[in-house]
Amino acid sequence: MLQRRCGKMKQKRSLVLKIALAVQTEYNAHMNVSRETRREKLAGAGESKGPAVKDTLAAALALCRRDKISLTPGRRRILEILAREGRPLGAYEMIDRVAGATGKRPAPISIYRALDFLLENGLVHRLASRNAYLACGHGHAGEEPIVFLICDVCGDVVEATSAEMRGSLAELARKAKFSPRAQVMEVAGRCRVCAAA
Ligand SMILES: [Zn+2]
Ligand SMILES: [Zn+2]
Repeated sequence: MLQRRCGKMKQKRSLVLKIALAVQTEYNAHMNVSRETRREKLAGAGESKGPAVKDTLAAALALCRRDKISLTPGRRRILEILAREGRPLGAYEMIDRVAGATGKRPAPISIYRALDFLLENGLVHRLASRNAYLACGHGHAGEEPIVFLICDVCGDVVEATSAEMRGSLAELARKAKFSPRAQVMEVAGRCRVCAAA
């Protein structure tokens, strides 16, 4: 049985959230943050989709502070775009978003460099099946097994993990004398809302 990651990391997460709240308050004082996101709309329609999008951004920014990760304005903008979107975005969609926000169209290479940095620091995941990127505020290790449950209909993505899956993958790698660098599984199907529709 899959369990939400946020449930698995309660202790760590509550600390992150405490920091995140402080960061969010400070952040909101400086920026006009749009809270209108697809995920929150879904939540309003009776679906529970884990932490709200604004928490993803706050938690990711708190992780940057905790790990002393310095975000250039360009990197921060990409992280903000992904966290606010709350669904995976392709690099070209990000270019459009940046162009819309700044009035200047960035070169793809600058977007890819920012994404590489965010990927390396565990603030963003890449969904290979969609060639798209998703913000992550969980602060887990890069090699930790994760599963993405991807809805074919609405495009919603839930990041999940389970102790059983971690155990069986560790056992499988151990038997093969293999040292995993990344363990990402992508499961396509229909989310709770779309399956019920
Ligand atoms: Zn993650
Ligand atoms: Zn769906």
